[in-house]
Amino acid sequence: MKRESPHIVYRRHSGEQGWQNLVQCAGLEKPFSKRFVKKASHEKVARKPVGAIPWGFKSLSLRSMKIVSACLAGVKCHWDGKVKPNQLIVNLVKEGNAIPVCPEQLGGLPTPRVPAEQKGKRVITRDGVDVTSFFDSGAQEALKIANLVKCEVAILKARSPSCGHGKIYDGTFSGKLIKGDGVFAKILKQNGIKVISDEELDY
Ligand code: SF4
Repeated sequence: MKRESPHIVYRRHSGEQGWQNLVQCAGLEKPFSKRFVKKASHEKVARKPVGAIPWGFKSLSLRSMKIVSACLAGVKCHWDGKVKPNQLIVNLVKEGNAIPVCPEQLGGLPTPRVPAEQKGKRVITRDGVDVTSFFDSGAQEALKIANLVKCEVAILKARSPSCGHGKIYDGTFSGKLIKGDGVFAKILKQNGIKVISDEELDY
């Protein structure tokens, strides 16, 4: 049986069940001892206490390819041109378990660019330019990549008008959040792909 190391753990948990959840999350076929988990190559991560796996994750294996927001992998695609890598995501990409995509760049937007937020069904820049068509076409192109690699789960940047999951900015550029999904996150969900945000990961 192929053994793979655990990569992802979650906050707020403890106890034996937690260790078993970690092993299941890592795609192993049956529970292994705490000792094995502690010896896994991602030792620092594996040592952390583990508990309830968020919805949708119990059956997911790290053997399936993930889609991740490219900015989380260290690609300079954020609207301000700055790099904001998440080491866990970088590791997933390095190990061949994730593909980075930036739907806004795939839609033809430049970097750096004027920030945009969703306002109703449109996406409007801080300057008042309607960029909805760029966001829509970028999301479609990124979805093509997700389908090509048979992606089951995506780990996306929180609050982004493209990648945000569950909460996005309200369109006033005041920092206020409302319930909602980014354009790309929404289209992934509509196509049966699980989405979580980087803020749900512990690393
Ligand atoms: S669209 Fe997504 S991947 Fe691209 S910069 Fe924004 S959050 Fe990152």
